[in-house]
Amino acid sequence: MIAFGPVPSRRLGRSLGINNIPPKVCTYSCVYCQLGRTIEMQVEPRAFYEPQEIWQDVQHKVEKAKEVRETIDYLTFVPDGEPTLDVNLGYEIELLKSLGLRVAVITNGSLIWREDVREDLRGADWVSLKVDSTQEEVWRRINRPHRTLQLASILDGMLEFAGVYSGELVTETMLVEGINDSDEHLGEVADFLARLRPARAYLSIPTRPPAEEWARPPSEQAINRAYQIVSERVDQMEYLIGYEGNAFAFTGNVEEDLLSITAVHPMREEALSEFLMRAGADWPVVQGLIARGQLIEMEYEGRKFYMRKLRSRRA
Ligand code: SF4
Repeated sequence: MIAFGPVPSRRLGRSLGINNIPPKVCTYSCVYCQLGRTIEMQVEPRAFYEPQEIWQDVQHKVEKAKEVRETIDYLTFVPDGEPTLDVNLGYEIELLKSLGLRVAVITNGSLIWREDVREDLRGADWVSLKVDSTQEEVWRRINRPHRTLQLASILDGMLEFAGVYSGELVTETMLVEGINDSDEHLGEVADFLARLRPARAYLSIPTRPPAEEWARPPSEQAINRAYQIVSERVDQMEYLIGYEGNAFAFTGNVEEDLLSITAVHPMREEALSEFLMRAGADWPVVQGLIARGQLIEMEYEGRKFYMRKLRSRRA
C-alpha cells in the first residue's frame, strides 16, 4: 500500500500518508530513526513507483475517506526513506493537487542543494526540513549521511529554498542526549534557524524505539533549556514531543488544557497564574498535576517553568 491513513498529525491535522519510497532507502542513517538502520544508502534520485500508481492509490483512499466522512487536511509524503530520492516527486505533487487537497512533504533536506529537488519541493504547500545540526562533526554523528554529502551545501540549499518558496516552510530538530543538546550547539542551530525564518521551528525527541539503542532523549531540564535557547532567536517555536492530544483546543477542562499547552510550550509561572485566573481555577490544580507526575516544575535562569511530563521518556 502506498497511501495510508488518514492519521492524526499534530502538525498537519488529518494527514493521508504517502509512502513513495520502499523501506528503507535513504540518504541518511539517523541514530534515532524509528525504521532502523538504512538498508540502502543512496543520493541519486530515481523512479520507485509509477506516478499514476501513486495517484490511483491516493485517490482511492481519498474516496474511501469521503464515503465514511473522514476529513483529510493534507496529503503527506512521509515514506520509509527520503522522499526527495523519488525522481518523480515534483510530477506526483502536481498530479495529486488535482484532488483539491493540500500536499505536504517531510524531508531531511539532504538533497536540497540540487536545483531539481528544490524545484520539486516548490510545488508542495507545506515542507518540513530536518535541521539537527549545523556542525559537520555533530551532523555526521547524528544523521550518519551518505559519504558524498556536504553539510555546508545542504544548509546553503535550505537558505536558497527558503528565499523562493511561497508555501509553509517548517523545520524539525531532533534532540539526542549528549550529541546535539549542548547550549553552544543549540545556539548555532538557533542562529541558522533565525536566518532561515521558517513559519515554525519544531524541537522533537526520539519517542519510538531508535535505530541505535543508545540514542536517547535529553532530560526534561535539557529539553526545556533547548527551548529557551532557540526561542530567544526564533519566534515560532514548538515542541513536538510525542503528545498527540488536542493541543491548544479549548476543552473547558483546565487540567487537559494545561497539559496540552505545556506539551508544546513550557509555561512561565506568571503565564500559568494568568491562565488559572482566566479559567477560574487555582494553584491546587497545578500541584495536583505535579503530584500525579503529569506536570513538572523546573528552573531556568532564575525563573520557574512548567512543562508536561514526557510520557515516553525511558529510564
Ligand atoms: S532521514 Fe528520516 S528515514 Fe532517513 S534515516 Fe533519518 S529519520 Fe530515518
